[in-house]
Amino acid sequence: PDHEPVEEVRPKTPVKPMTATEVKVNVSIPEAAERAAATGADGVGLLRMEHMVLTLGKTPERYIEDEGAEAYQDQLVDGIQGVAEEFYPRPVRVRTLDAPTDEFRSMEGGEDEPDEHNPMLGWRGIRRSLDKPEVFQHELAAFRKLYEMGYDNVELMLPLVNDAEDVIRAKKLMQEAGIDTEKRNWGVMIETPASALMVEEMAEQGIDFASFGTNDLTQYTLAVDRNNEHVADRFDELHPAVLELISETIETCREHDVDTSICGQAGSKPEMVDFLVEEGISSISANIDAVRDVQHEVKRVEQQLILDSVR
Ligand code: PEP
Ligand code: MG
Repeated sequence: PDHEPVEEVRPKTPVKPMTATEVKVNVSIPEAAERAAATGADGVGLLRMEHMVLTLGKTPERYIEDEGAEAYQDQLVDGIQGVAEEFYPRPVRVRTLDAPTDEFRSMEGGEDEPDEHNPMLGWRGIRRSLDKPEVFQHELAAFRKLYEMGYDNVELMLPLVNDAEDVIRAKKLMQEAGIDTEKRNWGVMIETPASALMVEEMAEQGIDFASFGTNDLTQYTLAVDRNNEHVADRFDELHPAVLELISETIETCREHDVDTSICGQAGSKPEMVDFLVEEGISSISANIDAVRDVQHEVKRVEQQLILDSVR
């Protein structure tokens, strides 16, 4: 033949260890989807909407005013669709918008943002979404469009919830937007101590999963600003208080058939992986560059647990 054998030019499928705990990947920008999918990860544990929105150069309110709601929805659909397509049928967990007000300040429309002393304790995540359903509904419409297009691997994740009240209100808006909350996979992030302590009440509202956002969970549990270099050495995701909240949450979720996962940075750290696998977490989502190591670490711990159990 005048060409190379086809097998030799095809990229090799990564050899990935079989594990009971799923290993997923975090995708911060849609452009990274192909590289993320090539890791052989079991899905996307976190796709943030922030990048899709912040690159528009306008606040959502201003963009909708200038370009129209349809255009805003299409921007979100485009951003999510590329990742959902790349991973199909592996699940892609998409988080609704969670940008603090100070990140909008420099944009068109930013002058209308409230001037907050403490944006990380302020008007962001589900708080803003619940207060501005006229904007949030367009995010939800993007999810509905993707479901109508057949991307049933898309999952919806709510950021910065504190309790069942947040979940009840968000669920109502999801349903009003035409999302079938019985049929679709949706859940919450566990990022505040309150959400960890209230997870049973949230489970009763029908969430399918709870995902640890350890960047924020650590910051709020220890009262250590995650972006403050003066206290950076006190930012400890493996602090016993953080681990206790995680452990209790996993146990409660197991009793209620709610999947647990982690999508904070700590999911890429071997010590945290060891702890989570021993606690029986359902999935771990790691950074693209860490997926391989996490896959092997999960395998190692799972095998050790089996050996320990027969000893
Ligand atoms: C987290 O808080 O751990 C998280 C994944 O969300 P973000 O880093 O976007 O706040
Ligand atoms: Mg967070």
